[in-house]
Amino acid sequence: MLDLEASGICGTDVHFHDGTLALDPGCIIGHEFVGRVRALGEGVTGDGLGQTLAVGDCCIACIALPCGTCFCCRQGETASCLSFGVTNAAPAAAPPHFHGGYAELLAQPAATLVRVPADVSVAAVAAFACAGPTCIRAFAFAGDLRGDELVVVQGTGPVGLFAVAWAAARGCRVVAIGSGNSPRRLQMAARLGATLVLDYRSVPAAQRQEQVRELAADLGRGNGADVVFEATGAPGALPEGLELLRTLGTYIVPGQYSSSGAVAIRPELITFKALRIIGSGQYKLGDIGTYLAFLRQSADLQQDLAACVTHRYPLAQVNQALADVAAGTCVKAVFVP
Ligand SMILES: [Zn+2]
Ligand SMILES: [Zn+2]
Repeated sequence: MLDLEASGICGTDVHFHDGTLALDPGCIIGHEFVGRVRALGEGVTGDGLGQTLAVGDCCIACIALPCGTCFCCRQGETASCLSFGVTNAAPAAAPPHFHGGYAELLAQPAATLVRVPADVSVAAVAAFACAGPTCIRAFAFAGDLRGDELVVVQGTGPVGLFAVAWAAARGCRVVAIGSGNSPRRLQMAARLGATLVLDYRSVPAAQRQEQVRELAADLGRGNGADVVFEATGAPGALPEGLELLRTLGTYIVPGQYSSSGAVAIRPELITFKALRIIGSGQYKLGDIGTYLAFLRQSADLQQDLAACVTHRYPLAQVNQALADVAAGTCVKAVFVP
């Protein structure tokens, strides 16, 4: 059993709330729970990554329960399990009742917990508890970064901001495209390492493409970005992503996390530019370990990431919190005790 330290409000929760993602009524949503161990089950001494676990330790709780036996799980690709379970799908009426992250307590199998190192700040952990591992898995599927790439990140929500931080920390040149409606997010993208931040509402698409192409030419990278990372969740971002890439570029698409309609693309760009398009929807428990190791690299980085938690709410203000997240006024919002 875990006591709430911070529980993130995710864009996915907004989709549940507005009905674009289906949900069984009667369960507790929330999948970004960071909590402190109040009690351990009998005989439990370790977390899901085999690290020791004791009462008082801080943990990230991962809701994913890969089946372990399907075709993908047998290849070790548990992030793409064909029959995923989630720990927060059980109705709250069923014991032990506290299955979901929007709560002060969470009853969670120890095998789905990852202990947070003592020298990592809870705010930094909570800022990207879901977005961080999501990004890390998506980059891993794409072969990760070498460090000399020009990376364009579409979207400056938590997934996009973490992608900026990850790519910049590797030495990549990063361009972030976000919305001027959320100026704090644009500022945060610059703080996390984007050297060029474009507001898509004030800089027209043709100009954005020209700026990216000029930058690519200056860096000697060819006719566009090496990597475009889609983190807007808006289908309309895809046609532009294909345009921004250089020949032999890679489009990483982990952001389309709801059924938000169709969009027309120019498929000939995929052929003529020999593009790679890499999708990614979930992450493995080990990606949480990678995320925490990344945070441990530097106190400055932790401070910058923690600064992304701009809104804190008690659980009683759940409707306000969801409305603020839907409106994009927060960089990251979390519930706190
Ligand atoms: Zn999430
Ligand atoms: Zn499976």
